[in-house]
Amino acid sequence: MLSKSKFIRGEKCRKSLWLYVHQPDLAFVPASQQAIMNRGTNIGVVARDYFPGGIMAVEGDYPTAESARRTLELIEQGVETIYEATFIFDDTLVAVDILAKIDGNWQLFECKGSATVKPYHIRDIAVQVYVVTGAGIPLIDAFVMHLNSGYVRRGDLNLQQLFICRSVFPKVQLMQPDIPLRLAELKEMLNQAEPVIEMGKYCESPYPCDFKEYCKTL
Ligand code: SF4
Repeated sequence: MLSKSKFIRGEKCRKSLWLYVHQPDLAFVPASQQAIMNRGTNIGVVARDYFPGGIMAVEGDYPTAESARRTLELIEQGVETIYEATFIFDDTLVAVDILAKIDGNWQLFECKGSATVKPYHIRDIAVQVYVVTGAGIPLIDAFVMHLNSGYVRRGDLNLQQLFICRSVFPKVQLMQPDIPLRLAELKEMLNQAEPVIEMGKYCESPYPCDFKEYCKTL
């Protein structure tokens, strides 16, 4: 099964996804990169308080099919804010940082530790919207929640000022027709031999690839 993170990895570099699935032991994540990833996770946890009173759908470290079952259960129970809301559709699993029903309509929020919206954030949310709506939950909007670089803390942390929510829904909707094709291509690629791809600028951008040390030896 694909996931949101596998989709993003595959969009960056097919070979990186192939290695991640078939040769994960070849990955090397420097401590500095791990620290950045941990920071992003911590920001996601802080951002939940922007929508207090929600229920966590994931039990354990990673979203699973059980998390997806629990998410649907929470929705049926009338819960209106779900953290790590998990859905499966088209053999792809995504966990939404925050799914909130606002004025009777579901909206999706993806938390990022950057100060701006990046192109790969849009791809990230596009696959989430594809899976969530495919799983039967209509969305009326989708946001990147990123940090406000101009925020200066005075006293208690003010989450309404710390985070900026930017709708990316129009862009994400334009990408919807392509998502199933791209997912199918990635699944097909994973059933074949390791792709031959030369190293390039994409090995460092938008973040350093964890298979660089391996690729350098080829
Ligand atoms: S190092 Fe570059 S070429 Fe190798 S898997 Fe990563 S992104 Fe792809």
